[in-house]
Amino acid sequence: DAALAAAAAPPPADSPTIFDKIINKEIPAKVVYEDDKVFAFRDIAPQAPTHILLIPKIKDGLTGLSQAEERHCEILGQLLYAAKLVAKQEGLEDGFRVVINDGPDGCQSVYHLHLHLLGGRQMNWPPG
Ligand code: ADP
Repeated sequence: DAALAAAAAPPPADSPTIFDKIINKEIPAKVVYEDDKVFAFRDIAPQAPTHILLIPKIKDGLTGLSQAEERHCEILGQLLYAAKLVAKQEGLEDGFRVVINDGPDGCQSVYHLHLHLLGGRQMNWPPG
């Protein structure tokens, strides 16, 4: 399908993505959390009652998790901690799921590292 086709062809390394426009408020997003390093907004095509994307405000080469270097350890930790804060803010006291899709096999379609925070229903395992 379209999402799979889009995910199959990664763009040239580190080109701007739609998430830059969201951070710069050039296109609208439903922002749920923001701090100095992390930006979080509702996914436009939610796969669960709560589906939020958490991204680093400064990409710094992090097109995806596979491109992480040691200098990224702090922002990686901040993203995970922000996911916990947003889960609490969203009232997901029964649990939630955090997902990072990487590369074609991971079905990644936007090459700006992002965590999916999903909740509000029973998740399935294994994922498709
Ligand atoms: P996939 O598209 O296969 O889920 P990703 O893990 O790269 O791959 O996820 C990108 C996510 O970005 C998708 O869930 C998609 O719905 C979401 N998205 C794309 N454009 C926007 C947008 N303008 N606002 C909010 N979410 C968006």
